[in-house]
Amino acid sequence: MSRVIVRHAEYNYKTLRPVIFEILDALAGKVIQRNSRVVIKPNLLAPAAPDRAIVTHPLIVRAVAEYVIDKGARPRISDSPAVGSFDRVLRESGIREELSGLDVEYKVFKDIVSINVGKPFEKIDIAADAVNADVLINLPKLKTHTHMLLTLGIKNLFGCIVGLRKPEWHLRSGVDKEMFATLLVKIYQAVNPAVTLIDGILAMEGQGPGKRGVPRKLGLVMGSTNAASLDATITRMLGIPEGHVPTNRSARRLGLVPDDIIIDGDLPEIKDFRLPDITRIVFGPRKFHRFIRKHLVQRPACEDDLCKLCGECWKYCPAGAITHSTKMISFDYDKCIRCYCCIEVCPHGALSQYETLTGKITRKLLNL
Ligand code: SF4
Ligand code: SF4
Repeated sequence: MSRVIVRHAEYNYKTLRPVIFEILDALAGKVIQRNSRVVIKPNLLAPAAPDRAIVTHPLIVRAVAEYVIDKGARPRISDSPAVGSFDRVLRESGIREELSGLDVEYKVFKDIVSINVGKPFEKIDIAADAVNADVLINLPKLKTHTHMLLTLGIKNLFGCIVGLRKPEWHLRSGVDKEMFATLLVKIYQAVNPAVTLIDGILAMEGQGPGKRGVPRKLGLVMGSTNAASLDATITRMLGIPEGHVPTNRSARRLGLVPDDIIIDGDLPEIKDFRLPDITRIVFGPRKFHRFIRKHLVQRPACEDDLCKLCGECWKYCPAGAITHSTKMISFDYDKCIRCYCCIEVCPHGALSQYETLTGKITRKLLNL
């Protein structure tokens, strides 16, 4: 049995603070001890203002930090952003300013510890500060994700993989979403957050989780000690079958989603939440996989007039599939593993995914 708390809220600190305090009291009140080191892990994907709905809102981070201080414990805010420096993300997200005057430490995830998570990955290098925290508080943002459909509690903890080890894992998982989802669930189990509290006040729909996504007001904060239960509940709330999200499937397969999830609060039914356009990565007979991948799986593409040649995409691409001239970037679609990391990290919204004409025609003919 696990419990998911649902509360309606706005970004108004006077009303938000008691809501966050109530949720944390119910879920983590007993585990946060005086002087304990509490690591708070927001979604700090990239430098972005709070109204873009890319990062966890600074007011939520502030309320959680104040709660920890109130308990006599020591809050530390940590993450390993995919794009930009940790300091820049803290500044542009408004977190630095919002928390000024509070006794909070900021520390980028850097040192690693090897954790044996069993087959098929065996040892994974994870941020030591996340693994060794007395208490870890996971603070995701409710967003869509062009690769994993949604990024919720479990996916947020991919930030505990330090720096360029993230694209390495994308490459090792290749086109296999199930494998990648299992990796994410194993990371969740290894860092074992005491509580996951998701910012769904201003969520993101469409082509998330980066600049291509569209902010969508839902007015919700939700929490649970079990991120798998929380993710499954949110997925159902958005009108999506639970198994459509790969991390939900992996979490259920690994026995992390109990059959009896108690909903504490008023869970709305959201029927018009816009999901990203994604195609399945691998389907059909194995001998056609190469053709299918080449033509039927959407490719990343660049709108050259939006591209600033900043280099984030080619630095991050796990497959080394992006090259550039002085005028534009180019993709090697034979090398590209369709992880869409480049779309996620592009700070200028210049990248999107598209299907080739051959793909469209084949899909129509085969009724796929
Ligand atoms: S596509 Fe985006 S990330 Fe890549 S170089 Fe252009 S602006 Fe930078
Ligand atoms: S080009 Fe983009 S989608 Fe393809 S492998 Fe590189 S980062 Fe992933």
